[in-house]
Amino acid sequence: MYAEVAMKPRRCNPPQSLAWFLTMFVLFPHTFSSSQQGMAETTNERSREDSPELSETRAARERMVQEQMVVRGIRDPRVLEALRKVPRHRFVPPEMQALAYQDSPFPIGLGQTISQPYVVAFMTEALELKPSDRVLEIGTGSGYQAAVLSVLAREVYSIEILEQLGKEAEARLKQMGYANVRVRIGNGYNGWPEAAPFDAIIVTAAPSDVPPTLVAQLRPGGRMVVPVGRWFQDLIRLRRTVKGVERESLLPVSFVPMVLDGERVPK
Ligand code: SAH
Repeated sequence: MYAEVAMKPRRCNPPQSLAWFLTMFVLFPHTFSSSQQGMAETTNERSREDSPELSETRAARERMVQEQMVVRGIRDPRVLEALRKVPRHRFVPPEMQALAYQDSPFPIGLGQTISQPYVVAFMTEALELKPSDRVLEIGTGSGYQAAVLSVLAREVYSIEILEQLGKEAEARLKQMGYANVRVRIGNGYNGWPEAAPFDAIIVTAAPSDVPPTLVAQLRPGGRMVVPVGRWFQDLIRLRRTVKGVERESLLPVSFVPMVLDGERVPK
């Protein structure tokens, strides 16, 4: 399995995991007592915000935002607000919920991972989203990144190649009221041509080169963030301009490889 982590040197000490867990357990025991808690309650934005379960974990998210994001330079207030809102613990497996606000990726089954929160924040900020934007995500995974995008953009299209993960994420997002997200099972390498062009594209599995089909589905002015490489990757931002495509290297990262035609990208 591949850990998905930002390789940038840390500018802060990460939370000490055991101490953090014990503190949270003492402060919010109900949050960790049942994997299903909260799953039946919400169908829209308002009830997501009002639920008692959320108020218990809000402090954990605020701490995550301050200690993992703000100190490392994430500045966009809309992005920080989205990360405060989306209940990440509901996107991780039940046995991992107590650790959901830690500074790390987690296994979500089938050899895949939910991204480290900082990487989600970094990539989301790099997309420079406006509320009117339409976004394509490749690699739905747990649906967490899609939920964050859903708060910030008008429409989110997300493609997952593993049917089981994609169906679970689709049901989870629907049940939680993220109504502007559409999930499709398929190979994201080919994008979503019927819904193109997109204002932004985020790729959360690593191809060895930038997929040209995806670049073609960016509208002029559109941004794409994609981890490119093999074991470790450069997070690249492409910006489509009238003159062509600008390319910037943003951050060393490590993502699971993008699958091509049912096979792992050769390493
Ligand atoms: N964004 C996810 C994490 C992504 S993990 C989250 O927030 O939880 C990477 C995901 O990309 C995995 O679920 C993997 O199955 C998927 N994936 C890999 N290759 C793919 C491809 N060609 N098309 C679509 N999804 C792909």
